[in-house]
Amino acid sequence: TAHTAERSQTVDIRIAGVTKTFAGSAALHDVNLEVQPGELLALLGPSGSGKTTLLRILAGLVEADHGQVLFGGVDATSLPVQKRQVGFVFQHYALFKHMSVLDNIAYGLQVRERATRPSKSEIRRRVSELLDLVQLSGYESRFPSQLSGGQRQRVALARALAVEPRVLLLDEPFGALDAKVRKDLRAWLRDIHQRTGKTTVFVTHDQDEALELADRVAVLNCGHLEQVGSPDDVQDHPATPFVMTFLGQAARFNAEIRDGRVLVNGKPAPVAAPKATIGPASLYCRPWHLKPVPAGHGHHQGMISGVRRLGSMRRIEVSPADGTKLEIEAPLVTNLRVGEEIGLDILDGVIFRDG
Ligand code: ATP
Repeated sequence: TAHTAERSQTVDIRIAGVTKTFAGSAALHDVNLEVQPGELLALLGPSGSGKTTLLRILAGLVEADHGQVLFGGVDATSLPVQKRQVGFVFQHYALFKHMSVLDNIAYGLQVRERATRPSKSEIRRRVSELLDLVQLSGYESRFPSQLSGGQRQRVALARALAVEPRVLLLDEPFGALDAKVRKDLRAWLRDIHQRTGKTTVFVTHDQDEALELADRVAVLNCGHLEQVGSPDDVQDHPATPFVMTFLGQAARFNAEIRDGRVLVNGKPAPVAAPKATIGPASLYCRPWHLKPVPAGHGHHQGMISGVRRLGSMRRIEVSPADGTKLEIEAPLVTNLRVGEEIGLDILDGVIFRDG
């Protein structure tokens, strides 16, 4: 079947020592990253962190200053775009407006040289298989203007897959769509990925999207790769304070590591101290790592400055007299009120040595 043919095309990607500078400012610093065959990897980072640049280097649209890109162990660093056998989908992927869905998807096959161009009936068969895969069977003769944004991105993905690429490169493909459609398309992409088994690199600045979709997440910050790991790894064992704070709400506390213990305001916190370390450190806590206790108790003191609902919990905003606002989680039914003084007990957290 077409799907097994696609699976056989699956390759790994290796990015080795890739550096890129634009007009004297570095967009990527010595990036090393491997993507396993058939893996769905999310490149996650804030705006300007270098995600698109790295994806474009993979595609062959931008040339790296140093370093190599290998597909299936073969150096592709100096291969032009057309020879890389990559499929792309961009955020605002302009489908050809004057062409039907069928012609849009078939385009990459129709422009092939005669010798490698499939027959008309073969192309029709392939398009209808792809439309089936992206759940748009029967849409062959529609034009882009007659499709919703989400449907257009699905056609764009079918078009990218039509040429049987070895890898798929997706740059915020759902970025321009509304929240509900984005969520639906996440599940849909996960499903397509499982069915085609294509090695896929997916750029996003949306933490939830990366964590929900990807097999592994690569976190970029100012052109540096901060961490690569499974969604559980990066959430539970962030390698740097940046990864900790970028992946979700986190409150920072001044801490001290002494006698194998982590102290906050002189009180031990139930967090394992890094071995053979001593001195000042930063303890980062998620909202659920902090428990409200009566004022005067706990590791930290503050005043409640906000209460709001978040799903099945309440988020309580606490403003300490000295320091920045932080959030804690409490059950939906809570008697905590704005203006109340409370203490905070630290239940867990992630410790980083300062300096
Ligand atoms: P976003 O999420 O906003 O798209 P990004 O993480 O994809 O951001 P890049 O687009 O890769 O980031 O940009 C990384 C850095 O390189 C930025 O500082 C950007 O201004 C710069 N940059 C990217 N492309 C060019 C270019 N063609 N010329 C000059 N500078 C560039």
